[in-house]
Order: sequence, then C-alpha cells, then structure tokens
Amino acid sequence: MTAILETTNLTKIYGSEQAVNKVSFSLIEGTSTALIGPNGSGKTTTLSMLAGLLQPTDGMISFNGEKHADIRKHIGFLPQYPQFFSWMTALEFTEMAARLSGMDSRHTKIEAQKTLEFVGLGEALRKKTGAFSGGMKQRLGLAQAIVHKPKILLLDEPVSALDPVGRREIMNLLKSLQQNMTILYSTHILNDAEEMTNQLLFLRKGELVEQGSLSDVKTKYDSPRYRVEFASAQDALTFAARSPWKVSYEEIFAFIDLDNELPEMNAVLGYLANSGLGIRKVERQTSSLEEIFMKVARQE
Ligand code: ADP
Repeated sequence: MTAILETTNLTKIYGSEQAVNKVSFSLIEGTSTALIGPNGSGKTTTLSMLAGLLQPTDGMISFNGEKHADIRKHIGFLPQYPQFFSWMTALEFTEMAARLSGMDSRHTKIEAQKTLEFVGLGEALRKKTGAFSGGMKQRLGLAQAIVHKPKILLLDEPVSALDPVGRREIMNLLKSLQQNMTILYSTHILNDAEEMTNQLLFLRKGELVEQGSLSDVKTKYDSPRYRVEFASAQDALTFAARSPWKVSYEEIFAFIDLDNELPEMNAVLGYLANSGLGIRKVERQTSSLEEIFMKVARQE
C-alpha cells in the first residue's frame, strides 16, 4: 500500500488563530477518505492547502514520497462554492479548466465533452452556466475538477447543498470515480461518509483527533444498546422502573444502554417474556456514525 499523498505537521495560522494544527496523515492510492469535523474545525483550510490555493504556515505535503513536488497537475479540486462565469457555456468553462491544467489544446474540447457527458451534462454542453440549477452547477464543478484526469480528487462538501436526489446522483458519480482516483472529501453528512470511505479523518479545532478505517473508529467508539418497543408507554415505564438493568425510556421505547458490557440477549428476552408486559420488538443496536461524531466532537 503506497501513500500517494502525505502531510506532515501541516499547519495554518491566521493571526492568532490556529486553523490547522500539526496535521499528519496519508492517503493510500485508490482509496477514499472522508474528512469530518464540526464547523470551523479546519476542513476547508486543509483541503485548500492540499489543492495549492493556500500556503501552509508550516509542515509538509509530499506526493509519491517526493517532498517538493508540484502536485497541482495531479490534483482536481471542487471547492465548497464553485464559481462560474455566467456568460460561458458548460463546454467553454470545462475546456478552460482543461487548458489551465496544462492539457494539450488539441485534446481539450473532446475531453471536456466526454467529461460533461460523464457527469450527466451531455444535453447542456452549450447552455450558459448562468441558467444552471444548483445540481447542474455541482456537476459542472465536478467536471472542471476531473477533466484533466487527476490522480487525486479533493472535494469540499460536495453534496451538502443538494437535495436527496442530487446527493445520490453525485455520490454515485464519485463512487464510479473511485476506481481511478484517490479521493479526499469533507462532509458533515455522515451517511455519505459511511457509504464511501476507506479512511476517516476527524478534525476538531484544527487538530486531527481521530483517524482510521470506518470499522476501527466504530469499534473504538461504539456503545451498543438494546431497544425494546412496548405495546404502550405505560409498559415501557414499568419496565424502566423494575428492570434489573440501567434503562432509559421514551414513549413506547426503552433502552438498555450500559456504559460497560451489555447483558446477553437471552437474559433480556427471558426477563421480558416473564414480565407480563406487551412487547413488540427487541433489537440490538450499534452506534451510528452520527452518534460517534458527537462523542468525538465533544471529547476534550
Ligand atoms: P471548516 O471547513 O471545518 O468549517 P475552516 O477551515 O473554514 O473550517 O476554518 C477553520 C478556522 O480558521 C475557523 O476558525 C475559521 O474562522 C478560521 N479561518 C478560515 N479562513 C480564515 C481566514 N481567511 N482568515 C482568518 N481566519 C480564517
């Protein structure tokens, strides 16, 4: 497993504000990494430094083990709020992006066209971008980021502004790009992070406080629980009052959510069967990434 991109103590200071503080991580070629963290934790600043748009205050970025490589031509970047010239057509804009990345001008038109077709804008090639919807703009933003076939694709909140249908479409496009590119994207939509991630990087106040595979992070922070659905709120209340375990309840649900080890499922089912209460469902639940996010975000 080779690291295509590596940061060492990457740091950005604005005045007295440490926006990014000694952040070190590697991206393994052909993998997807989700950069997550609360607002203001340094995600955009980190991506902008990797994209070459911001000069780091300190630290290093290396590409394929090379420390001072000019990585810009290997990188495609979709900013959180991509800007377009409203008087340009999608094709003109994408061609311009291809030229700026250094692509031979003989290929720009055909590559721009192919890329726009790939992102689903084949019918809108010659439409002016000023008339584009939010979803179309996001597709165009993606097209300008990938037209030069970069090895690394950086995306800042690629789906946050989209409705569920648009989100699904962009996620599917990203998944199909995954085969050819190493992807790093920031998101606060954790379902997306769950869907397309080999590695999670968790920033808090500019520091990388957690990193690892989705399953490692889940195992580390998971606090499993049982959720029991009763026939009535009264039954849930009675269970909470009498149960031998620590139980919380809400309407018709009761939760056995111990900090330490949970009782065996058999013990729970046995107790419930003899309780005389009306039971509809018993389920063992694991923490969602959302819950884990809250835990890591609050940790001091
Ligand atoms: P995120 O993308 O996680 O929301 P950002 O990288 O945008 O976080 O911001 C990290 C921190 O750096 C924030 O506290 C923000 O206020 C600060 N910051 C970002 N850009 C600038 C800037 N141009 N000047 C001063 N402070 C900035």
